Amino acid sequence: MDLNNTKTAFCHLSDKELRRNRFVFGLIRRPILTKMLTKIAKNVVEYNLPLKFLIRKTVYNVFCAGESGDVVLQKMAEMHLSGVNSVLDYVAEGENSEECFSQNLDKILINIELCDQAAPGQFIGVKPSSLTDCEKLKSYGEENLSLEEICEKVEIIGLVDKMTKICERAKAKGVYVYFDAEEFLTQGYFDSIVKSLMKQFNKKDVVVFNTLQLYMKDRIEYLQELIEEFESENIKLGVKLVRGAYLEQERELAKIQNRPSPVYNEKFETDEAYDHAVHLCLKNNQFVYTCLATHNKCSIELGVRLIQDLNIHNHYSCVFFSQLYGMSDNLTYNLAEFHYNSSKYIPYGELTKAIPYLIRRADENTAMNDQSGREYELLNEEYKRRKKRD
Ligand SMILES: Cc1cc2nc3c(=O)[nH]c(=O)nc-3n(C[C@H](O)[C@H](O)[C@H](O)COP(=O)(O)OP(=O)(O)OC[C@H]3O[C@@H](n4cnc5c(N)ncnc54)[C@H](O)[C@@H]3O)c2cc1C
Repeated sequence: MDLNNTKTAFCHLSDKELRRNRFVFGLIRRPILTKMLTKIAKNVVEYNLPLKFLIRKTVYNVFCAGESGDVVLQKMAEMHLSGVNSVLDYVAEGENSEECFSQNLDKILINIELCDQAAPGQFIGVKPSSLTDCEKLKSYGEENLSLEEICEKVEIIGLVDKMTKICERAKAKGVYVYFDAEEFLTQGYFDSIVKSLMKQFNKKDVVVFNTLQLYMKDRIEYLQELIEEFESENIKLGVKLVRGAYLEQERELAKIQNRPSPVYNEKFETDEAYDHAVHLCLKNNQFVYTCLATHNKCSIELGVRLIQDLNIHNHYSCVFFSQLYGMSDNLTYNLAEFHYNSSKYIPYGELTKAIPYLIRRADENTAMNDQSGREYELLNEEYKRRKKRD
């Protein structure tokens, strides 16, 4: 399997879309340009500048699937034809009111319906922070409350209700739920809730997955505990493995609060922890269902190698691979071509609400210069291949 086969990787892009993606990755691999564009994007929203069409035609269309359910459904159907599944993710970040939390819940429930309409075996992504007041949750940590006291708090009760409703609806429709991992200071609450939901909903088949960020120093130990506990209780464990998206934020906050940083200092330590987690999960594939959510080619190759070495014949139903929409299509589409369970996280939603997500993607691609460089090189290679063909 050649994970760099560009013909397969970009089979879903028209010539025009290929040129657009090549142009965008050409821009965001330059840090100064990204800084400038990020500033413009923030001003477009804040001052309602008439430049939204520019954002829509470029970064929005590269990293987001569309604004409405209908458009997204069409995209999901196209991807499914290439063997790629969808992880539907409504983008709504940084909003903090009860009204917004319940609107977000409604959107998530609609996503389940969309998945159900699109094809069997689809996924939704859920950010627990989009359903509750995270600042309130963080303040409980400072009050030194007992677990019982925390469980009685209205935010926790409301959050558990919302997350349970999502799992009930997803189970009824045969849709998998990935709960995303977020900031260290709230993750402990989300871990506890998702663990109890897995025990409730993963008895026969897997429905619920928690996300583990392997840049956190404590995750391997936590994963080992989960594996032991779920095996002894005969429950399916669903884990989505990521490296972690909030590295600098975690380090800065730990410094400000004068506590040790929860994340590793060096990239190779995160990489080692990620590989270790992949080994642990795949070795226990009889009851551990694993999603390798990464753009790292070595991690994907490790997953594929272990599937072969461990003779995981039913890997389509217990090992999943996922990348973000607009990124690493070479991995997603080549894995799908060789019948691995391959998927894309598909963010969608109104442009103005998607701006924080888009800024994060642009920053991430700029910070990981080799990532955006690699994307650009692959797009360029395909661009040249098509030109030669014509
Ligand atoms: C489908 C999908 C779903 C995702 N869901 C989530 C989620 O729920 N929560 C979340 O937090 N992130 C999520 N991410 C983002 C993910 O955590 C990574 O930020 C991103 O994918 C880059 O990591 P990588 O494994 O793809 O690639 P790589 O380029 O190999 O790794 C980059 C990552 O390595 C780590 N790293 C870099 N430098 C250092 C250093 N000096 N010390 C220690 N570690 C370092 C960081 O985590 C960085 O993001 C998701 C990604 C994908 C593809």
